[in-house]
Amino acid sequence: MTAQDRCFVGVDVGGTKILVLVVTDAGEILARHKTSTRRDGTPMAEQIAEAVEGGLAGADLSLEEVSGIGVAMPGSVDSETGYLGTVPNVELDDYQLIDTLRERYPVPVEVGNDVNLGTLAECWLGAGRDARTVVGMFVGTGIGGGVVIDGRLRTGPEDLAGEIGHMVLMVDGPECGCGNRGCFEALASRTAIERDIRRAMDEGRQSRILEFVSDDRIRSGALRDALDVGDEVVTEVMTRAAHYLAQGALTIRHLLDPDMIVFGGGVIEACEDFLMPLIEAEVRADRMKGSRDTLQLAVSELGDDAVALGAAALVEAKLSDLPVYEMQHDAGEAEEAPAEASEDPSMFAAPAVAEQVTYPHIDEVSFGSVVVDGERLEHDIHIRADGKLKKRKKKWARRDYGTSHMIGPRELKKLLRKQPETLIISEGFDAMVRMTDEGREMLQESGVQWQMLPTPEAVEAFERAEGRKALLLHVTC
Ligand SMILES: [Zn+2]
Repeated sequence: MTAQDRCFVGVDVGGTKILVLVVTDAGEILARHKTSTRRDGTPMAEQIAEAVEGGLAGADLSLEEVSGIGVAMPGSVDSETGYLGTVPNVELDDYQLIDTLRERYPVPVEVGNDVNLGTLAECWLGAGRDARTVVGMFVGTGIGGGVVIDGRLRTGPEDLAGEIGHMVLMVDGPECGCGNRGCFEALASRTAIERDIRRAMDEGRQSRILEFVSDDRIRSGALRDALDVGDEVVTEVMTRAAHYLAQGALTIRHLLDPDMIVFGGGVIEACEDFLMPLIEAEVRADRMKGSRDTLQLAVSELGDDAVALGAAALVEAKLSDLPVYEMQHDAGEAEEAPAEASEDPSMFAAPAVAEQVTYPHIDEVSFGSVVVDGERLEHDIHIRADGKLKKRKKKWARRDYGTSHMIGPRELKKLLRKQPETLIISEGFDAMVRMTDEGREMLQESGVQWQMLPTPEAVEAFERAEGRKALLLHVTC
C-alpha cells in the first residue's frame, strides 16, 4: 500500500458471524477479522464496532486513515436512511443501527443488502470484472439477487431491485415464504428442493438422501452426495431445479439483457458440476433469439469475502461517484485472476514483515476425501503460503487442458501467491496429475522449491517442510 491508496472497511453482518475486511481502493485485502455474532443482548452497533476495531488493528490502521465504512445486512435495507426492515436470522432490536454507527464514526457509513453487495463485488473484482451489467443469482435457503447496471448497483426507489427470488415463475404455483405464490424461490431454492424430495419420499419413493443428512435439514452438501451416488429422486428434483434456474435466467435475460449472470450460494457451490451444464444448455437453447448470443453464465469467484468486499465497494463507489468498472481492481487478491493478467512481480512478493503462519493440519487423506483440522472435505484443496485453505477450482484446468489432471500457469499463479519457499503438488493416488511445460517454466522462474509426489508422500512432505509452504492436494477426480 502506498500513501496515496485510500482504504475502506467492509462489514458483512450475518446470523452467525460478522466479517470485517479492510481493503484498499483497488480491492486488495489488508486485513480480515471474523467474530461470531453474539446473542447475549450486546447491541449490534457495539458488536460491529468491536469487529471494525479488530479489522483496523489487523491492518495496523487508525480510523483516521480510513475513507469510509460499508455495512452489509441481510434482509431489506433502506438505502437512503439505512433503516432496517425485517432482518432474518439476526437478533436485531436496534433499528437505529446505522444512525448509531454514523454518529460514532467520523467517516461516511453506507449500508446495503448483503446479496446486492455480493453482486457488486463480483462485478468489481470477481467473475464479472470484465462485465458492466451483471445480475447475481444466489441459491440457498431462498434465492437472493442483485442487479448492477453499467457498473452501478440498482436498488430502486423502493429498494426492491434484485429481489429475483420473488419473480413469479409459476402463476398460482406453490406458496412462497413472502406470502405470494409461485415465486422463483418457491420452485428452485434449497427449501423448495428439500420440500420436493420429502414429498417424493412421503409418496413412497426410495431415496438415499437421509444417509447424508446429519441433522434434520437437507443441506447442500447432502444434495451433492446424493447426486454423486446417482440417487434417482434427488437427481430428478435437482434436474427440475436446474430447469427453473435456467428459466429464471432467461426471464432476467429478456428483461435486462445483462452481460453476465453470476450464480452463487450454497446449492450452486456444492452442486455446480451438476447444475451449471444443465442451466447453460437450456439458456443456450433459448427460442427467443437475440441479435447475438453473448450472455455469459458464470459462477461467483469471491466466496465468503464477496459480501464484505461489496460493502467496501458500496462506500467507495458512492464517494468516488464511479461505476465499479472504473474503480481500480487489483487482481492480486481477487481469487480468479485470468492468466492474461499482467505478470506483476509484486504478486509474488513476500510480506514486508515476517509473520508467523499457522498452517492447516492434514489429519488423514484417502481416495476421495481429506480431513483437515478435523473437517472432512471431499474435494481437492490448495493450502497457500499464508496458511489459507482454498477449494481447488478445477474448471480452469478443465477449460485450458480438458482435464483437471494438468497443472498449468493459471493454477500455479494461485499456489505461488504470498511467496512459498516450498511447493508440494500431489499426483493423486493414481499418479495422474501432470505438470505442463509452461508450468515447469513458471516454477523455474519463481525460484520455488517444488516437488510432485504421490498423495500420501505429498502430505508427509508438506507437514515436514519448514518455512513458507504451499500445497496442492489431489484427492478426487
Ligand atoms: Zn416470494
